[in-house]
Amino acid sequence: MTDKDLLDVVIVGGGPAGLAAALYAARDRYRTVILEKNGLPGGQIMLTERIENYPGYKLITGPDLVQQMREQAEGFGAQIVANQPVDTLRRRDDGVLEVGTDGGASVYRAKAVILAPGSDYRRLDVPGEDVMRQATRVSYCATCDGAFYRDKHVLTVGGGNTAVEDTIYLAKRFVRKATLIHRRKEFRAQKVLVEELVETAKTKDIDVKLPYVLTEIVPNRDKTEIEHVVLRNVETGTVERLKVDGVFVFVGMVPNTAFLRGAVEMNEAGYIAADPVTLRTSLPGVFVAGDCRQQAAMQLVTACADGVVAAMMLKHYFRDPAWWTRPAPKDAAGGW
Ligand SMILES: Cc1cc2nc3c(=O)[nH]c(=O)nc-3n(C[C@H](O)[C@H](O)[C@H](O)COP(=O)(O)OP(=O)(O)OC[C@H]3O[C@@H](n4cnc5c(N)ncnc54)[C@H](O)[C@@H]3O)c2cc1C
Repeated sequence: MTDKDLLDVVIVGGGPAGLAAALYAARDRYRTVILEKNGLPGGQIMLTERIENYPGYKLITGPDLVQQMREQAEGFGAQIVANQPVDTLRRRDDGVLEVGTDGGASVYRAKAVILAPGSDYRRLDVPGEDVMRQATRVSYCATCDGAFYRDKHVLTVGGGNTAVEDTIYLAKRFVRKATLIHRRKEFRAQKVLVEELVETAKTKDIDVKLPYVLTEIVPNRDKTEIEHVVLRNVETGTVERLKVDGVFVFVGMVPNTAFLRGAVEMNEAGYIAADPVTLRTSLPGVFVAGDCRQQAAMQLVTACADGVVAAMMLKHYFRDPAWWTRPAPKDAAGGW
């Protein structure tokens, strides 16, 4: 690997995981390039104006935090290339990794790759969802935004484990009332969670409406608050309005990994499989970090932590490519 164009590491995705990985890799003097599909890096966290759970900041906006992360990574020499949707990943026989973008427009070659394309919350695609998300009245994450709804009435939507668990969490910790709707007559969530929901509803104000769908979120005149939401009973067709302060949509996540099918091992839902200690994937030289990883905690700080771990592992691979197949040492006291 003597080619002068050969990068040490290409990072796919410029969200928090990618930016944290770039900071560490560039600071370790590795030639580091982030390929970001959008015009600006930052990922999902760019969509929020209120972050309260990133250590070191009592309150910061997503764009402000990303700006600082970006400056920090670039300050150490990382290069961020925007408008570069990665669509291919291939490992050559000599171990060089080729990362193709934009239908073959460019090919970047590197000794290692860190995959950090994140994931997107599955949306309902109903009128008003976008505009109220921008006004931070529609959320997809109870851990992120629950605290903003103290003593308020929220609508929660979904029938899986997250919907049931997070409705309980919101009702117990923050909100005055939670109305949970699901489009079927039965929840998909585990029975034990549904039982807990019923138990919690004895002491907390939780209203469960089945089988209902949300058809519209109607904003107030200046589009800062929700005027009301429109619900439809799937069986009877009856339509009703409900006054709520916020909507939590819990209908799943979609990892941005379709372009990696066949290149690295992933589960059915598309989350990339990795050794949880080293973040090595099934393809030698390719690490994974952040929300697109199987078993990820899906938080800003954990995405950053993943990026850091992946970047710190680079040296082991660069020192000895055979490290890839060695199990992580169980007795590595205080790190390795
Ligand atoms: C509205 C909202 C509020 C949130 N609030 C909080 C909060 O308060 N606290 C908290 O801890 N977490 C919060 N989160 C969750 C947090 O944003 C995510 O956990 C975190 O952003 C995950 O980082 P990531 O880098 O793994 O992925 P992402 O942030 O999804 O970034 C992935 C990046 O990769 C790029 N990309 C995707 N595919 C490709 C490709 N093929 N080629 C090149 N680039 C690609 C994307 O454009 C994106 O920039 C919130 C999320 C949302 C949506």
